[in-house]
Amino acid sequence: MSKPFSTDNPESRPADGADGAPGASNFIRYLIDNDMQSGRYGGRVVTRFPPEPNGYLHIGHAKSICLNFGLANQYNGTCHLRFDDTNPEKESPEFVAAIQEDVKWLGFDWGPHLYFTSDYFEQLYGFAVLLIKAGKAYVDSLSSDEIREYRGSLTRPGKESPYRNRSVEENLALFQKMRDGGFEEGECVLRAKIDMAAPNMVMRDPTLYRIRKQSHHRTKDQWCIYPMYDFAHCLSDSIEKITHSICTLEFENNRELYDWILDALGVYHPQQIEFARLTLSHTVLSKRKLIQLVREGYVSGWDDPRMPTISGLRRRGYTPSSIRRFCERIGVARRDSLVDVALLENAIREELNKTAPRMMGVLRPLRVVIENYPEDQVEELDAVNNPEDETMGSRKVLFSRVLYIEQDDFMEHPPKKFYRLAPGREVRLRYAYFITCVGVVKDEDGRIVELRCRYDPATRGGDAPDGRKVKATLHWVSADHSVEAEVRLYESLFVKEDPGSEADFKTVLNPNSLDRLTGCRLESGLANAGPGFRCQFERLGYFFADPKDSKPGRPVFNRIVTLRDAWAKIRGASNP
Ligand code: ATP
Ligand code: MG
Repeated sequence: MSKPFSTDNPESRPADGADGAPGASNFIRYLIDNDMQSGRYGGRVVTRFPPEPNGYLHIGHAKSICLNFGLANQYNGTCHLRFDDTNPEKESPEFVAAIQEDVKWLGFDWGPHLYFTSDYFEQLYGFAVLLIKAGKAYVDSLSSDEIREYRGSLTRPGKESPYRNRSVEENLALFQKMRDGGFEEGECVLRAKIDMAAPNMVMRDPTLYRIRKQSHHRTKDQWCIYPMYDFAHCLSDSIEKITHSICTLEFENNRELYDWILDALGVYHPQQIEFARLTLSHTVLSKRKLIQLVREGYVSGWDDPRMPTISGLRRRGYTPSSIRRFCERIGVARRDSLVDVALLENAIREELNKTAPRMMGVLRPLRVVIENYPEDQVEELDAVNNPEDETMGSRKVLFSRVLYIEQDDFMEHPPKKFYRLAPGREVRLRYAYFITCVGVVKDEDGRIVELRCRYDPATRGGDAPDGRKVKATLHWVSADHSVEAEVRLYESLFVKEDPGSEADFKTVLNPNSLDRLTGCRLESGLANAGPGFRCQFERLGYFFADPKDSKPGRPVFNRIVTLRDAWAKIRGASNP
């Protein structure tokens, strides 16, 4: 019975259970459970994902998204999407739109809770004025170099600025003048008045506001002073009545300031909790670095299938459920660790093993003529769509006199352990027949251009009635019943495991990260594979019709992953 499958259903058959929720208990859930029991936040759980719109999201952000939205789901709470847009020079509406698209694609919904820090600018300004009035902030007229100099070091206490003891009235007037554009960039800043000898450097009178004469993508030219991250972040959390403000470990030292600002103002106080950021092997996860790869043309864009961005993974062929499952598996901890990219690859491989139909495609075709097969005969043979799932049924593949097999499945002078096709040797063609190579045709340069073979009609379906065995089964397509395609094979972007730790990460780019093969031949059923179609090419890996470049009749496929963890083998071989 033949059962066709849809070639245009993008997210068919999601894997079971991958809901993004960190399945096993973790220390954050433990903390929240305690707060739920003590009634600290009245039984509410409100988290937020606060990206800065200065680039596209990457797989590290996916970890934070799955964590924040996942916790909100588990505790029947809400998760806000808040754009932390306080650096006008680096931010843009393009990034705002892309981030929303990526969060949605990952399967999360912020409902009505879409916020922008820039919407709070007036309120934040008001909080700054309150701090000045309380004698807890001052306008400093030191230059940025002097401020750095005065800050001291871990071993040396800082020095107080001569402007530290300006009167409240003077500070209010100067801050107003900053807002009104009465100073140039860098002429002065607003600082918190805390302690220049604090052991935690973050507490040595941190800057709260700076002058930037820059148009903002949302507030345009309304402001020329912008709040610093530490000031804007805790107050945005407070304004939104966030309960648990989850961030990465590098903000651990900033927690003291987070708490200080909220206490100094006596406003609603969320709990900041830090967890280890994701670092993934053989790639970089920093927008600052990723943006260089894009701007300097090392990749084709933010959605280049080699990029660790959500949009790159999507274009490569990853499913949202595989990314959620990966995030679930790596869990959350308080210790930084480098996660092997093989774990991410395994998540999609496992899912597609269950859900992706098997097809045949030949990447580097070698023409095969079956001499004893009638010229104009065409046969339909049964091929199983997925041996892991019999409900996926079978399909017909067409067999004829002229076929293609993979060039590297043939060797004229095979070494000992080569069991595939060679002169005089018999192999199986998957779902079809046993064939034996009886001749080799070469061009003037001695290159093999065609094989002459004979088939055994008694082996139809791939088994010999006399029980004789062959050592190899090859994939193949019929020349007249296949479609020409481009296939793109990928390796990791970097040759080093931790490129982020190199002096210049661009010196360890992998020159072979992209291999574009044209003239590939695929089963004709793939001619019109819609964007979003995924399948296994037998023996070659899992593939995805490129959503941008694949066109009806002219398919372009990306290899998502190989069938096995090829990198583990390479690494195993090079460091025994
Ligand atoms: P990048 O270094 O890539 O620019 P960022 O922290 O500056 O990252 P934001 O847009 O500020 O980027 O991040 C939004 C949220 O995502 C923050 O809460 C941040 O802690 C979290 N996040 C960023 N990178 C990672 C990562 N590698 N692993 C886990 N969470 C991350
Ligand atoms: Mg940031």
